[in-house]
Amino acid sequence: MKEIIGQLKSYVPEEPLESVQARLGIDKLVRLSANENPYGTSQKVREAVLDYVANNDANYYPDGYAASLRQALSEHWDIPGDQFVIGVGLDEVISLVSRTFLCPGDNILVSTPAFSEYALNGLIEGAEVNAVPCQPETGHYDFPALLAAVNDKTRLVWFCNPNNPTGTYETVEDLRNFISQVPKNTIVIIDEAYIDFVTDVPVPTAMELLKEFDNIAMMRTFSKAYGLANYRVGYMIMCQELTKYVQTIRLPYNLNSVSQVAAEAAFKDEAFLKDTIEKNRVQRDKWETVLTDLGVKFFHSQANFIYMQIDEAIAEEWLKVGYQVRKGLQPGWLRIGIGNAEDCDKMQTVLRQFLGN
Ligand SMILES: *Cc1c(COP(=O)(O)O)cnc(C)c1O
Repeated sequence: MKEIIGQLKSYVPEEPLESVQARLGIDKLVRLSANENPYGTSQKVREAVLDYVANNDANYYPDGYAASLRQALSEHWDIPGDQFVIGVGLDEVISLVSRTFLCPGDNILVSTPAFSEYALNGLIEGAEVNAVPCQPETGHYDFPALLAAVNDKTRLVWFCNPNNPTGTYETVEDLRNFISQVPKNTIVIIDEAYIDFVTDVPVPTAMELLKEFDNIAMMRTFSKAYGLANYRVGYMIMCQELTKYVQTIRLPYNLNSVSQVAAEAAFKDEAFLKDTIEKNRVQRDKWETVLTDLGVKFFHSQANFIYMQIDEAIAEEWLKVGYQVRKGLQPGWLRIGIGNAEDCDKMQTVLRQFLGN
C-alpha cells in the first residue's frame, strides 16, 4: 500500500436523508449541506431517461467516449470534442488530473478554505499541499500570496470559482493576471462547479482563457445548478495535448448510458437552468439582507450557498426543524445551502429567535 494512504481520512459522504430522518425522529428533512439543487431536476431529464430505459437493454457496454454528450458540449463551447474529459462527476475528473500530472514530491497549491478533494487527491499521489489562506475580511483569494507561493515544484494550482465554501467570485481579469505570471509547466485548474449562479457580472466564466493559455483546465459539473447530482457527470476542458494524457488513464466505460442521456437532456434545458439561477439569486439576496440586519458576518456569495461566522449551535436548532447545513469546515463557521423561498423563511425565523431578535 502507498504509505500515505494509511494516514489519510476518506471523504465523508452525506448520510442518506432517510437515515438522518430516522436517527432524529423527524418527518421532514431538507438537506442544505451538499449544495444540491433544491428545485429538483428538469422534467426533460426524466422524460429522456424513461425513454432510454424503455427502449434499451443494458447488456451492451455504454459509449465509452460519450460521443453524443461530447458533441453537445463541443458545439456549445465551440471547442473541439477531443479537448473534453467527461467523468463520473467532477470528483472523478479531479482524481484523474491528480493521477496524471502529480509525482511524489510535487506541490499543489490551494487557497483555504477549499474543496477538500483537491488536497486529498494530491496527497494520495504523494504531492505536498501548499495552502494559502483567503483574505479574512472578504473571503477572496489572496492572489499576491498565492503567486508568491508558486515555485518550481508547483505542478497544479486549484482555483474554485465561485469558491466552495466561501462563495466568493473572482473576476476573469484577476485569474488571467495570475495565470500569466506562473511558469508554463504549472497547470492552473479553474473549477467552475458553481459558475452558473453568478449574477454580479454579465459573463462570469473564464472559458475564454482557454484560447490564451495552454496550461489551464476548466471544470464543470451537472451536479449543482443542473440538479443532476445523483447521475454523476462532470467534465474538464484542456488543451489537446494535456487532455490526451488524462484520457489515457480514464476507465474505458466510466459513464453509463443513463447518465449520458440525462446530462445531455439537462444541458439542453436552458429554461430549467435559468429558473434555478433566478430563484437562487432572489433567496440569496434575501439571506444577505437578513444576515446584514442581524449583524452576522458572512462572505458575499455568488454561489447557491452562504458561508457565515456564527455560533455553530444554530445548526442543531435548524436540524430540529428539518434543515441540515454544513458544519466542520472551520471552527465557528457554517455553510448553508440556499433553499427555496419557504425553507429560507423558516430558517430565518429560527435564526432570529436564536439570536434573540
Ligand atoms: C460539488 C463539487 C464538485 C463535485 O461535483 P461532482 O460533479 O458531483 O463530483 C466539484 N468541485 C466543487 C468545488 C464542488 O463543490
